Formats: sequence, structure tokens, C-alpha cells
Amino acid sequence: MDCLFCKIGAGDIPSNKVYEDEKILAFHDIAPQAPVHVLVIPRAHIASANDVTATNSEIVAHIFTCIPAIAKKAGITNGYRVITNCGEDGCQSVKHLHFHILGGKKLPENMG
Ligand code: AMP
Repeated sequence: MDCLFCKIGAGDIPSNKVYEDEKILAFHDIAPQAPVHVLVIPRAHIASANDVTATNSEIVAHIFTCIPAIAKKAGITNGYRVITNCGEDGCQSVKHLHFHILGGKKLPENMG
């Protein structure tokens, strides 16, 4: 499958890593939209939030269990926002489930 984040998760394409374990990888976004902008992905392919099921949702729980430590390791000290874009109207550009962690400044209240 020709999936950018599968390749990053497998180490075939380099990334600026913040955290990794056997199931997930966190790395700095290549085009940051905040002073700190980290992406967290499952290594296994899940296309989007629409594709999270009772069978594969454990990885989402694992990602959220790791997010506080990932945010801290990335230098976030005063709160953050977690976003997943889904589908056309959500402006999802990479069709592999990922969570944006944004922080390092007071973020705008309005999200769209
Ligand atoms: P989304 O628009 O929610 O699908 O988010 C995709 C994100 O992936 C965007 O914020 C991009 O800047 C980011 N991105 C794309 N390619 C890379 C890459 N090679 N390394 C790190 N981040 C990337």
C-alpha cells in the first residue's frame, strides 16, 4: 500500500521522532501550525477516525495514554490541543489515522 505514514511508521521514510514504541510513533509535523506540532500515528494502517472499530480501538486508547508524555517530551508545559482530521470536510490530507498535538502557545479558541 502506498501510504506515507505507513512508510514513516516502518522507518522507510525518516521523521523527526519524539516517541516510539512497537505500536505507535510520534514525530514533529513537517509544516508546523503551532510552536510545537507533533503527529502521533499507529504503525498499523487505519485510514481515518471513520475506520476505528471495536477490534482496533485499543491502539487509540494506547495513543491517548501516551499523549501526555509525548507532549511533555516535545516541550509543551501549559496545555495542548489534540485534533484528528477526518474525510473531505475535515481536510484530512494523509489517509492514515493520526492525531495532531498542538501547543507551545495560547491557541485560538475558534476551531472552525
Ligand atoms: P492532515 O491534513 O490532518 O491529514 O495532516 C497531515 C499532516 O501531515 C500535515 O500537518 C502535514 O504537514 C504533515 N506531513 C505531511 N508529510 C509529512 C512528513 N513527511 N513528515 C512529517 N509531517 C508530514
